[in-house]
Amino acid sequence: MHCIAIYGASGFGREIMPLMRQQYAGEGVSFVYIDDEMANGQNILTFDAFVARPEPQKSCILAIANSTIREKLEARCLAAGVAIIGVKGSNVIVLDNVEIGEGAILCGFVHLTSDIRVGRQFHANLYAYVAHDCVIGDFVTFAPGAKCNGNVHIDDHAYIGTGAILKQGTPDKPLRIGRGAVIGMGAVVTKDVPAGETWIGNPARPLRRD
Ligand code: UDP
Repeated sequence: MHCIAIYGASGFGREIMPLMRQQYAGEGVSFVYIDDEMANGQNILTFDAFVARPEPQKSCILAIANSTIREKLEARCLAAGVAIIGVKGSNVIVLDNVEIGEGAILCGFVHLTSDIRVGRQFHANLYAYVAHDCVIGDFVTFAPGAKCNGNVHIDDHAYIGTGAILKQGTPDKPLRIGRGAVIGMGAVVTKDVPAGETWIGNPARPLRRD
């Protein structure tokens, strides 16, 4: 018997549960949530209560948008011998030569075209796309409708906001989004974004907090 936990019982977790049910339909899997704040002893468990369940096979999907939390929870799961799994909506399109790391969440209407590499624990929310020749690091998060055109390289822990557009790069000069950078909702990114910066607007510029 296999028990699968959706880690995070808040909004995003509740969007992922039906995708999981669909993906594992007919396989006799039982589903629960894990949530460290909202555990209720019934269908929302603490992590320790999940690990203590009797099913011999236990897996977890990290349905939390914050990438730093995902990295922490990945380590917690692996230390406890809990496998991390991903999910792919039934209408997701993935074309040729696409490598995706462990734990990816590809929500409905996501489209990944050809010759793409993606690291661990990637989240692509509704309607996001990744076009040809992109390289995406670990723990990267795409909010709904994020548009990543061809030849873009995105480093670990970057966050691409809802509806943001990343301009196409070229094979010899890909557009680069640095580690931990945040791209605001609706931004149009035409230049490289350095690590750790937040860029907003059209054309996107660094957010100054003064
Ligand atoms: N959470 C958790 N353990 C952690 C951090 C977060 O269980 O170490 C839970 C948190 O209690 C919340 C959910 O994860 O219920 C995250 O939900 P939030 O609304 O912040 O984000 P979203 O659902 O949009 O990813």
